[in-house]
Amino acid sequence: MINLKINGIPVSVPEGSTILDAAKLANIRIPTLCYLKDVQCVGSCRMCLVEATGARGLVAACVYPVSEGMEVRTNTPRVRKSRKTTVELILSTHKKKCLSCVRSMNCELQKLALEYNAEEDRFGTDHDIDPVDDLSPSVVRDNSKCVLCTRCVAACNNQTIGVIGPQHRGYAKVIGSPYGVSLAHTSCVNCGQCVVACPVGALYEKSNVADVWGAIVNPEKHVVFFTAPSIKATLGEAFGLPVGTNVDGKMVSAIKQLGDVKCFNMDITADLTIMEEANELLQRIMQGGTTPMFTSCCPGWVKFAEHYYPELLPNLSTCKSPQEMFSAVLKTYYCEKNNIKPEDLYVVSVIPCTAKKFEITRDELGHYTDAAITTRELAKMIKEAGIDFANLPDGKYDTPFGDASGAGAIFGTTGGVMEAALRTAAYVLGGEGAPLEFKEVRGTRGIKEAEYSIGGSTVKVAVANGLGNARKVIEQIKSGEKQYTFVEIMACPGGCINGGGQPYVHDEIRNSIDLKAVRAQALYDSDSANKYRCSHETPAVKALYDEFFGKPLSHKAHELLHTTYHQRDKY
Ligand code: SF4
Ligand code: SF4
Ligand code: SF4
Repeated sequence: MINLKINGIPVSVPEGSTILDAAKLANIRIPTLCYLKDVQCVGSCRMCLVEATGARGLVAACVYPVSEGMEVRTNTPRVRKSRKTTVELILSTHKKKCLSCVRSMNCELQKLALEYNAEEDRFGTDHDIDPVDDLSPSVVRDNSKCVLCTRCVAACNNQTIGVIGPQHRGYAKVIGSPYGVSLAHTSCVNCGQCVVACPVGALYEKSNVADVWGAIVNPEKHVVFFTAPSIKATLGEAFGLPVGTNVDGKMVSAIKQLGDVKCFNMDITADLTIMEEANELLQRIMQGGTTPMFTSCCPGWVKFAEHYYPELLPNLSTCKSPQEMFSAVLKTYYCEKNNIKPEDLYVVSVIPCTAKKFEITRDELGHYTDAAITTRELAKMIKEAGIDFANLPDGKYDTPFGDASGAGAIFGTTGGVMEAALRTAAYVLGGEGAPLEFKEVRGTRGIKEAEYSIGGSTVKVAVANGLGNARKVIEQIKSGEKQYTFVEIMACPGGCINGGGQPYVHDEIRNSIDLKAVRAQALYDSDSANKYRCSHETPAVKALYDEFFGKPLSHKAHELLHTTYHQRDKY
């Protein structure tokens, strides 16, 4: 252990710790901007400068190692002046349109500017900036707001995509794609990890809020919302509730107050996906089909496979994602049952994910979803409508798509799809009394492996979250180093609970808690409290098979619930 003092407070930390690590332990706040836990630590923005004995000049606390007997000062006049100047230099290239900015009141730069009494125009504001890039169906880039922290670049590199990076030098430096092309014309997989890493309003989702409001006030439209499994665990953060608060009931009440709309539960088509996927897996195992089978419910991962591993496309499950299954069911079964013309039904999917905005544009999925809005966009609509979210009573989803299983709920976190599929596969092969919990695949580790005996067969599984981890698992499979039966991949680190459309969380919170684990726990709690634990128990799923699809993998199921993939170029 290394002993040092920060602002006179003694603290002991393991050797190799940084001053920032030690300050956290001593409960002393040092501001950061380019630093983001699990994403980037480069010491480039200079916001975290401090005075330290033995150092020449100020040092960046996020990268400077502690030493025995060191004395650190974090708030001297020299330190405060330096931080103020840093903020003022950033503001000199920043388009200060705070009132209409997507991050207003939730912007890390705005917070720092207020804290350090920065003068907006001390170094002028004359700076030519590239135009906004809004050609991607998922992500909008506005370099006029960029503070060049490179958190987005690190997030994209961690995904092993690397389609954005610094372009030009010095005062002309901007973040962009090679040769200035639009993000839409690169191999970007639309995961939005760059968006949730950005501290300011330089990156945000392509908004569909205006379209949805338009449909709600259109008397000719029947508007239905459905909400993805992870939204219940994150929406509350946008209204100041603690991370990990389950707001399922308040969310339903809020959606119903937006207008004359219905609100359904997407956990049901997570269950439907499992019914199809578990049966597809068993069919592949028993009939000698292509294995290992990979999950296909994450559109970021599917596009990644299309760009980087097209030879693996036959290994991907043919199941559509829960979003696309739900929309197909609504525009067929639900419309028939309720005598609604499919063109009069307006389907709004609420998702944690920017990649699903891309997914709804894919021709092979049938264009059943009319709008996909992120958790952040739903929060914006609720605020625009003046709804007092925190004090809402719990509402109930509309029938017939209300009650779902706990297996559907855990779809929103890494390992959840695998566990849900294993529950149903174990039931199909072993009947009543089959195991319900497969805890080895839980947790936020990047790669998880397990081996189970199901119905007398050995099933080896792997779970990867984050595309860097996915790439490692795939390379091990390709080299023959590892063999699996079934592999779950989610593009976002931690899965959908940390998706690119989830509420912005300031660096101070992200750096101090395990955001992914706390959000995931809300889903596991929901699962263990549910009277249905397995997808095959969900009443709406049983009704769908009894009344419409017949059985899993039927001809009709194949027509509406399954799809194909195709190779894409790398750029
Ligand atoms: S959306 Fe994902 S792949 Fe695309 S630029 Fe951002 S981090 Fe990279
Ligand atoms: S776009 Fe955002 S995350 Fe990327 S460098 Fe600019 S400010 Fe940082
Ligand atoms: S992990 Fe979830 S949020 Fe992230 S890209 Fe995949 S489906 Fe979207």
